[in-house]
Amino acid sequence: MAFSDKNREILEQELDNIRDAGLFKEERIICAPQDSEIEVVFPMGAEEKKVINMCANNYLGLSSHPDVVEAARKGLDHRGYGMSSVRFICGTQDIHKQLEEKLTEFLGTEDTILFPSCMDANCGVFEAVLNEEDVMIADRLVHASIVDGMRLAKAQQDTYKHSNMDHLEKKLKLHRDKRLRMIITDGNFSMDGDLAKLDKIVALADKYDALVFVDDSHASGFIGKTGRGTHEHCGVMGKIDVFTTTLGKALGGASGGCVSGRKEIVEMCRQKARPYLFSNTIAPVVVEGALAVLNLISKNTGRRDKLEKNTEFWRKGLTEAGFVLKDGETPIVPVMLFNAKLSQDFANDLYERGIYAIGFFFPVVPKGQARIRTQLSAAHEMSHLEKALAAFIEVGKKYDILGKSKQEIIEKYGN
Ligand SMILES: *Cc1c(COP(=O)(O)O)cnc(C)c1O
Repeated sequence: MAFSDKNREILEQELDNIRDAGLFKEERIICAPQDSEIEVVFPMGAEEKKVINMCANNYLGLSSHPDVVEAARKGLDHRGYGMSSVRFICGTQDIHKQLEEKLTEFLGTEDTILFPSCMDANCGVFEAVLNEEDVMIADRLVHASIVDGMRLAKAQQDTYKHSNMDHLEKKLKLHRDKRLRMIITDGNFSMDGDLAKLDKIVALADKYDALVFVDDSHASGFIGKTGRGTHEHCGVMGKIDVFTTTLGKALGGASGGCVSGRKEIVEMCRQKARPYLFSNTIAPVVVEGALAVLNLISKNTGRRDKLEKNTEFWRKGLTEAGFVLKDGETPIVPVMLFNAKLSQDFANDLYERGIYAIGFFFPVVPKGQARIRTQLSAAHEMSHLEKALAAFIEVGKKYDILGKSKQEIIEKYGN
């Protein structure tokens, strides 16, 4: 029998376990292009509802920008739909090389190699560059795709406490004898919206002759004065040895990722990175769209500036209303609720009021740190944010958490 009852039962049981643990993920269906206002169907079979989107990674509002859509359309006309090949066989067009050059210029690095996604970049880079004589020392909160990439590499693994520079220094001392030491961090940590201390990390890397790896997926395009990323914000342009980042967030939001950095590292990836060698090339449509995005945001900083203003308004509004936020300055603004069920109820009440935001709880965030993660976009107008803020305040009042401290909220709802 192809799929026996016994096999089905085993898997059904696993799924039931996920449901029983309250961890079953249900997709909301969006019946519109990605934007600050979208039509959503939730739950399945419900009426379509127009809501303000507070949870996309569409930081610069470029996911359906007319110039980007037009460029993608031209790409379709000029370079076709697909390449039916990996890069090194017959999957490299002139526009792929142009996009790599453009990313190098934008990030301020030496060279860039495209991957099908940033997940693929992270899964390829460590194995391609490091061997068993080396060590990877990662921040404990790095993205899941980095964790997976590290698992695939032969180098020794170690970690340091989140953004704890003393601990990192200890680990660098401990691994003095290794051939290569690579410090690994996210630029902007996606769950808390806090930035890595790249100036301090680079100083330690200098002192202990280590390489610095930064995944800037939640920063490329908008963090730093001209949006280059966390390295620009921290004043260490040119000093990061290897970046990975995604085209799937601020940079148009379609798909694709890259490794960008020292030219020898990029060349090692071209020779050896398995997701580069064995997975299809990025579609020409997406490449042309991404080129248009980089042209748009290289010309002026209007979009990232608007995003910064929106972020200030939103953080100030929520703080003054009496919510507990995670401190920070990035467009990732977590509204802390501490209790898992409260985070779900809160999100449902927001949805009823036309605000789309998602409650996160363990294991996506640590136990007792449930929250609604809000994300700002340059596509938000003041009217959207005012309406969203009013809804947050209404729901905050309903659950009587405004002006309450972390301790008081936990006493009331548990965690
Ligand atoms: C989103 C994200 C990724 C994955 O990017 P894809 O291009 O969608 O695979 C990798 N790393 C970090 C830090 C991310 O936030």
